[in-house]
Amino acid sequence: MMILFKECSLYAPKFLGTKDILIGGLSILAIADQITPPTGVDVQVIDCSGLKVIPGLIDAHVHIAGAGGEGGPATRTPELQLSHMISAGVTTVIGCLGTDGMTRNVESVLMKAKSLKQEGVSAWILTGAYQVPTPTILGDVGKDVAMIDEVIGVGEIAISDHRSSFPTAHELIRLTEHARVGGMLGGKAGIVNIHMGDARNPFKPIYEAVEMSELKFTQFWPTHVNRNDYIFEDAKEYGKKGYIDITASSYPYFPEYEIKPSKAIVEFIKAGVPLEHITLTSDACGSLPDFDEKGNLVKLEMGHPRSVFDEIVDAVRDEKLELEKAIQVSTSNVADILKLHKKGRIAVGKDADLVFINEDFEIVHCAAMGKLLMKDSIILKKGSYEK
Ligand code: ZN
Repeated sequence: MMILFKECSLYAPKFLGTKDILIGGLSILAIADQITPPTGVDVQVIDCSGLKVIPGLIDAHVHIAGAGGEGGPATRTPELQLSHMISAGVTTVIGCLGTDGMTRNVESVLMKAKSLKQEGVSAWILTGAYQVPTPTILGDVGKDVAMIDEVIGVGEIAISDHRSSFPTAHELIRLTEHARVGGMLGGKAGIVNIHMGDARNPFKPIYEAVEMSELKFTQFWPTHVNRNDYIFEDAKEYGKKGYIDITASSYPYFPEYEIKPSKAIVEFIKAGVPLEHITLTSDACGSLPDFDEKGNLVKLEMGHPRSVFDEIVDAVRDEKLELEKAIQVSTSNVADILKLHKKGRIAVGKDADLVFINEDFEIVHCAAMGKLLMKDSIILKKGSYEK
């Protein structure tokens, strides 16, 4: 069965005008000004006049198997649900473990990624957790990256945070070098996703690791760079050399400390950070704890995947960033950094992951891996145990 989307305003992410798009199997088969439905096969034709189509979003930092627990066992967060991805226009997730590398494990993140793939979306994972030495499946981060299909890197490794194991520069170099070689052997990015905490001079451990080794800044991918005003200022400089990831879901809970993600994107561009270096992820299903001066937990919230799409819309509406630029932070930029060659762009031969939005920036249809999972704003496919 094929699907022909007629007359969509195509943002690939670059705006390419009004086009017809034919998808079949898992892939985009054709894009042209006019496509007539092929004969002899089942083709569903959907009129998309008035709709914009963007690549399915890649949410590259999600605690898919649950996380948290900093407030005791009752504060452990639940697993990601399929419908929460689809209704957020997210067709690819990258799962990670997080703070709790002690009572949770990478194996469960891997199995959750496999389950999401069976349910119809795309998923990869990062091996490891906050702590160094970091938990793995095969005993070494390099082996995990090289030999397990779903593992594309390591993370989130915590630095500059009271929950971090404060890895030395040598420890960070060794771990990153293993990830890099594992990536080369497995044909993957082998990137090291770094959880950035609230300590002053937060990028210092990465600068030291790069100075003391042959590693490049682009082997690291620090996240939460909008968590307070001083990391945000430092990230404006760091981002000229390496990648920086903005976290979307925590802002509504901590507006007194954090920089609004939509604003952060535009401020980074203004500061001279190349747009290709900027990514936006949700941190969904992660716990969002707030600690007082004495280190006591005062409140705990949970992130949601929808935050990425909402911040992209705010970047367009409130910050006046062109849509084709705004969507890059969660589509082509992420695909390039993570070497996901079939993701992040609408082009012939790429995976058929498409999100259709109307004039009011509401998600109308969503297709993942060639199948319609949402049509006319109604979710057609739910996760295995979702009602
Ligand atoms: Zn984190």
